[in-house]
Amino acid sequence: MKLGKYSIGVGDRFTYQGKAQLKAIMKANEKGLDISPVWNKSNREHIYVGTVPADTRKEADAAVKALDFKGLYFVDADHINLSTVAKYVEVSDFFTLDVASFIGKESSKDEVDAFVASCEKYMGELQIPGMEAPLQVTKELLETIASKFLAATQHASEIYAFLKKEKGEGNFITEVSMDEVESPQTPVELLFILKMLADKGVPAQTIAPKFTGRFNKGVDYVGDLEQFEKEFEEDVLVIDYAVREFGLPQELKLSVHSGSDKFSIYPIMADIILRYDKGLHLKTAGTTWLEEVIGLAVAGGEGLELAKKIYESSYNRQEELCGPYADVIDIDGSKLPSVEEVNGWSSEKYANTLRHIPGHPDYNANFRQLIHVAYKVAAEMGTTYTSMLEKYADVVGSCVEENIYERHLRRLFTI
Ligand SMILES: [Zn+2]
Repeated sequence: MKLGKYSIGVGDRFTYQGKAQLKAIMKANEKGLDISPVWNKSNREHIYVGTVPADTRKEADAAVKALDFKGLYFVDADHINLSTVAKYVEVSDFFTLDVASFIGKESSKDEVDAFVASCEKYMGELQIPGMEAPLQVTKELLETIASKFLAATQHASEIYAFLKKEKGEGNFITEVSMDEVESPQTPVELLFILKMLADKGVPAQTIAPKFTGRFNKGVDYVGDLEQFEKEFEEDVLVIDYAVREFGLPQELKLSVHSGSDKFSIYPIMADIILRYDKGLHLKTAGTTWLEEVIGLAVAGGEGLELAKKIYESSYNRQEELCGPYADVIDIDGSKLPSVEEVNGWSSEKYANTLRHIPGHPDYNANFRQLIHVAYKVAAEMGTTYTSMLEKYADVVGSCVEENIYERHLRRLFTI
């Protein structure tokens, strides 16, 4: 089973927007692209929302059938590990093996030594084709990298072995993710992480490193764009080299766990993948949930009322809702509008404040981040929330579609 060159992860917390998401992808494909949709949902999201992995499979299959989509599509068990993978085995065909928590876990001296010895030929000045300066590979560097990443790659190989036994070799896509950590992995670290994965027989088709900069939930990238560009380009070159040198799958590509809406780095990535003729997987998650709230606000009436209630609860439960996401949000509480103020807003004012149009005078990134982490509030509302999604399905669906197509796909694939 192979993942296409371009794929986009469309997370959908409440599993109502599969069709709208697919419509956006099909619209891009009509322009000559071939993008595969991947419906991703993490264990945490399932727990908060009260869905099970089979719901995501049902949503994906139903959308594909309803729109008669003929391309490849996948269902991603996002950010799983050995203790959470089992319930995804049957319904998923894409697995994101999250080994971030194993980074820095101790490996035996023998293992570290054996890895360093296996890298003999790469020591000294290592010229990666296309890269400006050669990498300086010393024994000390290799020891540091081995101590940091051997345990994580070992864990990836254990999850992979479990899946291979359960699903059969070649019947699923393997992604390895290390993005949910503080410090980014450098291109030279990525190179040797890939060697470890190859050594351990993990046929990764996508790899999700932590990139430099802040990837806060639902808002734009915060960081040094030039540094990101350099790092992303070097990662692309390193992957190219690793595929040839270590025998990893030809289609291996970067997976960018964006936390959604990293618009300022989209053109940078677009330019580099085009220049080197490479693939890309871009994972989004909360952007669709935010469009649901925008759609409800735009719908007016009961929809707007509910959108206001969601803000009220979110505002009053900031600490609880933001806690689990503390590392990936930056909310300035003093810039949040009061509940009273929001209760007086029109559909347009609410939607413009939440919709991600950087530079729009009403756009408020603090408001947006708070709603982003507040899907738990809507989940607790149960059918009060989902019945509104049904009632206003048309307007909500068109917001979801427009967002994925206009703000994401067009920027990312230069349509
Ligand atoms: Zn991630």
